Amino acid sequence: MTSIDTNKHKKAKALKPGSVRPAKELCSECGLCDTYYIHYVKEACAFITQRIDELETTTHNRPRNLENENELYFGVHQEMIAARKQQPIEGAQWTGIVSTIAIEMLNRGLVEGVVCVQNTKEDRFQPMPIIARTPEEILAAKVNKPTLSPNLSVLEEIEKSGMKRLLVIGVGCQIQALRAVEKKLGLEKLYVLGTPCVDNVTRAGLQKFLETTSSSPETVVSYEFMQDFRVHFKHEDGSVEKVPFFGLKTNVLKDIFAPSCMSCFDYVNSLADIVVGYMGAPFNWQWIVVRNDTGKEMLELVKDQLYTQPVTSKGDRKAAVQQGIKAYDDAVTLPMWVAKLMGVVIDKIGPQGLEYGKFSMDSHFTRNYLYVMRNHPEKLEDHVPEFAKRIVAQYKLPD
Ligand code: FAD
Ligand code: SF4
Ligand code: SF4
Repeated sequence: MTSIDTNKHKKAKALKPGSVRPAKELCSECGLCDTYYIHYVKEACAFITQRIDELETTTHNRPRNLENENELYFGVHQEMIAARKQQPIEGAQWTGIVSTIAIEMLNRGLVEGVVCVQNTKEDRFQPMPIIARTPEEILAAKVNKPTLSPNLSVLEEIEKSGMKRLLVIGVGCQIQALRAVEKKLGLEKLYVLGTPCVDNVTRAGLQKFLETTSSSPETVVSYEFMQDFRVHFKHEDGSVEKVPFFGLKTNVLKDIFAPSCMSCFDYVNSLADIVVGYMGAPFNWQWIVVRNDTGKEMLELVKDQLYTQPVTSKGDRKAAVQQGIKAYDDAVTLPMWVAKLMGVVIDKIGPQGLEYGKFSMDSHFTRNYLYVMRNHPEKLEDHVPEFAKRIVAQYKLPD
C-alpha cells in the first residue's frame, strides 16, 4: 500500500478555479484539488492511481470475493435489501433514505457535520457542496445534482473546524479520494454514505442533454434513468415525462458524458460504508448495500422508518447486453415510435432486480472499457480494476 505519512499538506496550494487539474481531461472535479489536500493527488485521484482493490481491503477489512457473482458486481457487502420510506420526503430523488440517514445521525449526535451538496440560488442544477450542521441544511441538499460536483472542496474547512465526527455523502470518485486522505483529516470517526453513480456530465453537458431529450427542458426539476428503460423527467408542475432509452439521440449525445465518467468503473461506490441507490430493487423501491459494520449501524438508525423486502433477481441480461454493445458502438438511433414499442416489450420480458443492476453494469463497463482502450490505451491495464476486467471478459467486444 502507498503510505501517506507526511503532514506537509497544509503548505500545498489549492488550484484556482478553471485551471487544468492533474488528471487533465479525465478529472471528475471531485474537489480534492480545490484544497491543500492536492498535496496527495497522485495517490488519491481515482484517475491517476486506481486503488479500489487495495482500499476495499483496508476499509472493509477484507477483499471483494470475486468468485461470488453478487460480490463481483456489487462489491464487499454483508447485506442487500430493497427499501422505501414509509413517509417519503417530498422532493427527494427517490424516497429520501439518504437524507433521512444523515438527519438521524446528526440528531442523535453521532456526527457533528454532514458533507452534502446543495444547489446555488441561481441554478437548481449547479452543485454547491457544504458541511451541514442542521437537519434543515441536510434537507436543502436533497435530490441529485446530476452534474460533476466538487464535494471534497470543503475538506480544508473540516480540518479547520476541529470537527471530530463526520458523515460524508458522495459518489465513487469522490469517495476514493476521500478514503485516500481519510487519516489526514484529523477525525475520530468518518462515516461514508454513498450513492451509485454513472453517466455524469458537466453543467454544459447537462444543458445539451435536457435540450435534446426533454420537450420542456427549462421546467425539469429532476430526472432518472429507470428500470423500465425510460428516462423519467419530473417537471415543476409535478408531471412526469417518459422518454425511452432507445429513443435517445445517441449520435448527438455520444460525447455528452464527461471523459471521467466514460472511464469510471466504480458505479456501485465500492468504498462507502453503505450505498443507497435503486438499480437492484423492484420499480419504485430503493436498493441498499450494507458493506461493513459502520454501514449496518447507519441502516439500523432508520430501519423503523422503512418498508423493506429481500432483493430478488429475474431474467437473463446477457443477450441484451451483447446487442447493446453493437448498437452503442454504431450509434444507432431508432425512430421514436419503434423505440416506444421496444421500451414496452423490454419492460415485460427484461431483466429485473439484481439482474437489472448487472445489466446496467455490464453495459456501462463494456462501453467504458472500449473508451479507455481507444482513448487512453496506456492506462488500460492499471486503471481497470480486476473485478471490472472479469465482468467485461464475458462479452465479445468490437476492435
Ligand atoms: P436524497 O434524500 O434525495 O439525497 C440525495 C443526496 O445526494 C443528497 O444528500 C446530496 O448531497 C447527494 N448528491 C446530489 N447530487 C450529488 C452529486 N452530483 N455528487 C455527489 N452527491 C450528490 N442509483 C442507481 O441505482 N443507479 C444509477 O445509475 C444512479 N446514477 C446516479 C447518478 C448520479 C449523478 C447521482 C448523484 C446519483 C445516482 N444514483 C444512481 C443514486 C440515486 O439516483 C439516488 O441518489 C439515491 O437512490 C438516493 O436517493 P434518495 O431519495 O435517498 O436521496
Ligand atoms: Fe483532482 Fe479530483 Fe480532478 Fe483528480 S478528479 S484531478 S483529485 S479534482
Ligand atoms: Fe465520478 Fe464515476 Fe460518477 Fe463520473 S460516473 S461522477 S467518475 S463516480
